[in-house]
Amino acid sequence: MAYNYFDKLDSVAQGRYSTKLVLINSDECPYKFPAGVWKNNPSWWPDLQFGDVYSYLIDSPGIFTRASMKSYKSLDGHNYFKSGWVQTVYSYKPSTSAYTILKVDVRPSQRLNEEPHHPWVALSGDGSVAVAHCNCMAGLAESCSHIAALLFKVEAAVRLGYTTKLCTELPCKWNADFVKKVQPALVKDIQFYKTSCVNKAKKVKVGHLSSTQQEQQTLLQTLHACNSKPVVLSTFDNFSDKFHWQNTVTSDPIVPQCLRSLYKAEYADFTKNDLTRKCSEINDSYSMNKETIKYIYDVTQKQSSSLT
Ligand SMILES: [Zn+2]
Repeated sequence: MAYNYFDKLDSVAQGRYSTKLVLINSDECPYKFPAGVWKNNPSWWPDLQFGDVYSYLIDSPGIFTRASMKSYKSLDGHNYFKSGWVQTVYSYKPSTSAYTILKVDVRPSQRLNEEPHHPWVALSGDGSVAVAHCNCMAGLAESCSHIAALLFKVEAAVRLGYTTKLCTELPCKWNADFVKKVQPALVKDIQFYKTSCVNKAKKVKVGHLSSTQQEQQTLLQTLHACNSKPVVLSTFDNFSDKFHWQNTVTSDPIVPQCLRSLYKAEYADFTKNDLTRKCSEINDSYSMNKETIKYIYDVTQKQSSSLT
């Protein structure tokens, strides 16, 4: 956490933050308290009840409403707490203040490499929440999911009786060990099932009988006889005929020779009568069936509208 957090705020945010410090009569920003003053000691924590959490989150400006608090277990803040992203809570009561300040690091879910958020809350002796702050964007106001996560953890500790015991090993260990120490690992090394479940599954022996060649052929023939086309057949040589390309390409009808091809230089010396006779011969030799006529009609009917 940046030591000079306050100095980096803009003037408006500095004003709001200063007001919070005045409210708890602290002349120093909790982010500047020496590391040595903070203790892992749940027995120092005030008696924060769920009602205090509820009242604070509802009454302070932020994301929490009566409707969302009705299903508070689905809130991000509660999920952070349940998932173990709320790390060890440290407390300190400044000599000048009547409030106990609790601070914690809240890891942003499973993104292990990201910097955690740093909420702090000031609780009065009876457990009510006086002031809260977080260095996230939302925390500049009065409440955010990280503040809520911190409150949910403290409330759980009170409810479970950890704050009424002396700081024996158990409450302090609960506070510190609540964090799930998730370490990154290769997927192949992650155990997704409990060992007992794996062993149980191993005991159930499933016998696999190999099918005979005849049985395989019978199966393929049965599939081949289906009206639908089981796609698996496309991978078997003798049964893939349903997947062969069925469309046959029809060839264009043979059209008569182009008139230009009839040109011969010697016709230039013909008399008019010879030319007429030649044309008559050619005309008689030309023949077209109905299919050819239709084809020529289809492919040329739009030529009249062509500009080229
Ligand atoms: Zn926050």
